[in-house]
Formats: sequence, structure tokens, C-alpha cells
Amino acid sequence: MRIDLHTHSLASDGTQTPTELVTAAKAAGLDVVAITDHDGTGGWDEAVEAARRVGIELVRGIEISTKHRHHGVHLLAYLPDPTHVGLRAELDRIVEGRSSRAPAMVEALGRAGIEVSMDEIAAPVPGRPHVADALVRQGVVATRDEAFEQYLNPGRPGYVNRYAADLTATIRLVTDAGGVTVLAHPWGRGRRGDLPASEIARLRDAGLSGVEVDHQDHTSPDVREELRAVARELDLVVTGSSDHHGLGKSNHELGCHTTAPAEYARLMELAAAAAAAASGRRTPEVVRPG
Ligand code: AMP
Ligand code: ZN
Ligand code: FE
Ligand code: FE
Repeated sequence: MRIDLHTHSLASDGTQTPTELVTAAKAAGLDVVAITDHDGTGGWDEAVEAARRVGIELVRGIEISTKHRHHGVHLLAYLPDPTHVGLRAELDRIVEGRSSRAPAMVEALGRAGIEVSMDEIAAPVPGRPHVADALVRQGVVATRDEAFEQYLNPGRPGYVNRYAADLTATIRLVTDAGGVTVLAHPWGRGRRGDLPASEIARLRDAGLSGVEVDHQDHTSPDVREELRAVARELDLVVTGSSDHHGLGKSNHELGCHTTAPAEYARLMELAAAAAAAASGRRTPEVVRPG
């Protein structure tokens, strides 16, 4: 069983339609794939249809933009009721923050002498990658990575902050919506100090179910093994995933990291328990082939 629980489509900043994503997952030999676009569920319905057609197990998820002590943290939420009023309101607020950041980024880049139009960066859930792609298309930079390094990372001329939800409150919201949560790449990109084991323990006490350990952003095997040990110690589910973005992120091919079947089974058991505890909620089921 090959299981990849973190991928993006055009519903956020991937480059494939949900159908293309799910079809590519099947072609890559995956048995289970989760669609986890940033801050929304816009890709879910199409992904479900495609999964039924190509015959692959599909988990519906969201990668939510949160913050913890002023630092950004990505939270993977699996199988929450997408109509939960509190969760919906928070997702809408994040997307609204993204939408109002887009013109501010255009303005900031304009001050740096780079003209980007709003049309070029239009997206349902607009993010910095869309701006990066516009800079690549214009030939200002060669790759998304270069666009981030030169223009879009904090401290660079095109950087503008945006709203993010409170991490602990979001874990509680997703739980209330009958879903389960997993910290995405918590020790990636130099973020290790923001979420030491003691903080992860606190998040577990707030309802966190798992930690994404095997991820490209955890560049050293030592970091992964240490994080795995922390997760084990705290009895958290350990996941591994590609964080595939289509052509948008190199070196994140579908299935480049996977989740062990036993860990996936446990996560789905926790999801079933969360859904049962949130009875009356419209929690989605895992889509199973056949
Ligand atoms: P945003 O949430 O719009 O501020 O943008 C964050 C997104 O940009 C996340 O999906 C990251 O995966 C992506 N990202 C961050 N740094 C880079 C980079 N150097 N190259 C490509 N994508 C990146
Ligand atoms: Zn992304
Ligand atoms: Fe992420
Ligand atoms: Fe991601």
C-alpha cells in the first residue's frame, strides 16, 4: 500500500486540475491519495468524481494557514464537515486575507519596478506561488524558488503579510467539525525552534492527532528521526507525504514520501472517532475504489 496524504491542485497553488492530480496519483502507483489544497475545499467534488472513475482511495483534506506565537504553521485537516459554520468562517477569513494581499503584493512589486497585473495572479485561493509564476512567465526569474528568494520571502521587496488562524483554536475547530489534524512539515525551513516537543505536546492535548515527519522540507534524516521519536513519545500518528504541487515545486513528486499503512489506519480510526463524537455533522467519508 502506497499512501500520500498531502497534495495540491489548481484549487490552490498546484498546477493540475483535481482530475489530473488524482489521475497522476493512480498512475504513480499510489493506493491512497489525499487532496489538501490551502485553505479551501474547492477541489473536493471534482477529486471525488475522478477517484471513483480511476479507482483510487481518496481522503478529502485542507492545509490550513495558521499561526502559533507569531510564526506561520501549516495544519493538515482531514475529513472535517466542510459546512461547519465556525470552520467555514475561518477558511473564508483566510481566503479573504489572501485576496486582499494580492493587490498589496502587486503594489509592493510595482515600487520595486516590477509590473504585475492582477489578471496574471488571479486564483480561487491566491498565494505567493501565483505571483512567483507570473514573475517566471515574465522572465524576471527562472523558477518559483528564485522568485521566493529574490522577491517573495519575508524581507524581500514583494513580501506582504496576511491573516492566519490561531493554531490551537483551529485544531479545536477541525475536531468540532468531526475531522482530525496533522501538523504539516513542522520542523521544515528552519522552523524547528517554533514548535519544540513541549509545544507539540500541548497541541496534542488540544486534540492534535499526528505529525508529518517524512517531508522534503525536513532535509536531514537526523531531523526526521528526532521528530519521529517525539511523535512516538507523544503517541501521535506519523505521516509522510509528497506535498506535490504539480509542476509548481520541483522535487515533490507524488509518492516521494509516503505514510505507513498502520499509521494511516490509525489516523482513519481517529477520524472515525472524531466523526462519531461530532454526530449530526456532515463529515465526508473516505472514497474507496470499487
Ligand atoms: P502563501 O501561503 O501564499 O504565503 O505561500 C506559501 C506557499 O508558497 C506554500 O505552499 C509553500 O509551499 C510555497 N513556497 C514557499 N517557499 C517556496 C519556494 N521557495 N518555492 C516554491 N514554493 C514555495
Ligand atoms: Zn502550496
Ligand atoms: Fe505547507
Ligand atoms: Fe502543502
